[in-house]
Amino acid sequence: MAGIVSIVGRPNVGKSTLFNRLTGRREAIVDDTPGVTRDRIYAPAEWLNHSFTIVDTGGYTEGSDDSFEAEIRKQARLAIEEAHVIIFVTDGREGLTPLDEEVAELIRRSKKPHILAVNKIDSPSDDFAISEFLKLGFKDTFPVSAINGHGTGDLLDKVISYLPQEADKSSDYTEDLPRICVVGRPNVGKSSFLNALTGRDQHIVSEVAGTTRDAVHTRYTMFGFDFYLVDTAGLRKKGKVTEDLEFYSVMRAIKAIENSDVCILMLDASRGIEAQDLSIFHLIEKNHKGVVIAVNKWDLTDKSHETATVFRNAILEKIKPFDDVPILFISATDKIRLLKTLEEALEVYKRRKTRIPTRQLNDLLLPIFENQPPPVYKGKSISIKYITQLPTPRPQFAFFANLPQYIKDPYKRFVENTIRTHFDFKGVPIDIFFRKK
Ligand code: GDP
Ligand code: GDP
Repeated sequence: MAGIVSIVGRPNVGKSTLFNRLTGRREAIVDDTPGVTRDRIYAPAEWLNHSFTIVDTGGYTEGSDDSFEAEIRKQARLAIEEAHVIIFVTDGREGLTPLDEEVAELIRRSKKPHILAVNKIDSPSDDFAISEFLKLGFKDTFPVSAINGHGTGDLLDKVISYLPQEADKSSDYTEDLPRICVVGRPNVGKSSFLNALTGRDQHIVSEVAGTTRDAVHTRYTMFGFDFYLVDTAGLRKKGKVTEDLEFYSVMRAIKAIENSDVCILMLDASRGIEAQDLSIFHLIEKNHKGVVIAVNKWDLTDKSHETATVFRNAILEKIKPFDDVPILFISATDKIRLLKTLEEALEVYKRRKTRIPTRQLNDLLLPIFENQPPPVYKGKSISIKYITQLPTPRPQFAFFANLPQYIKDPYKRFVENTIRTHFDFKGVPIDIFFRKK
């Protein structure tokens, strides 16, 4: 399951507060487009093992020709257009306003799953305050307090019940081929890369529309490889005003990531790795997709050996703890290492499908964990008895132990590093679970 959940509503109802509560403010992306006075933010969220992306669309543009209210309407329309599920936030203390009713009408017309969160109801005894909002006729109406969390669990339960199922490959495509996307901030060189690599569509075999309205999978057969490049459809409409570009590029990235197996994260060598790049990296990681980092425009740097090392280390430092990731220095304009980048992405795809026989896992790793068991906890010694890789589409390992509940994060990281040292999972996020034996 995956998807985009947009938080919509007029200013000051508590959208950002709710966003922070629902996402734990992890890896929030701040839109630094000039003129945006309030940040437009998105971040991954998780609830009951479902991952999705929450977007806070409260930003409005100063100096825009539109009036303040027109601007809010426009933002709401955009957010609604791009969402799978809409959380409509109102202020329970202030009551229903005409602007609320207008936004409600936009939401209704979209025919998308939506939930009304009547906010600032800080105590269950104030829940009656939602009654005024019932006349909007929304099926799902919840009293919440973004400040203290009251009601937000019920809200999230409802959100995940409306999320789209993850595209099921077997029914979508006849071939089980790698799905690869190229993501990154505007102007890092994504289109130049794709055009140079694919020779302007010469190698296109077919365009297969995905089940979701979000992605187009174009099949390529070239250089002996057979794969899909994932692009996002429906978002390429002309005539969008410029201040929406960053917003669109973000939406496109999220959808491309969700629809791919492996993502090529493109950076601009002349800018280094910045907060927005990192946020995209974390979106890829949180979605459990494979990743290759391609540092583009390498032609612009002085290409001593050292430059690459310094650059690589700076990236590795920032992407910790998941730093077992291939990094390539490329140039789309000079056609340097483009094919290598594609090859690496396809290697990551293979690694992500790796299945290690249980016997091999246990023979190789158990002695290591016997030698270096988890730290004794409250006088009890903990030992790992048995390891198996789960029969899931991506690498997940179960470690059976006598007292799994006492195994802490540092040991978990040690376990992950040990797996990565002995088996090649470069570019692939892996999950480790400790279970009771
Ligand atoms: P936005 O403009 O819709 O994003 O609203 P903000 O998140 O910036 O919140 C507007 C104001 O409402 C701030 O002063 C918040 O502290 C306050 N606020 C937000 N959520 C709650 C809540 O659940 N209870 C109360 N009492 N105040 C809230
Ligand atoms: P996108 O927005 O990520 O698709 O970026 P584009 O492919 O449109 O490229 C943005 C700008 O960067 C264009 O002016 C490109 O010509 C330039 N560019 C792309 N790749 C390279 C490269 O490898 N080296 C240099 N010097 N410029 C590049």
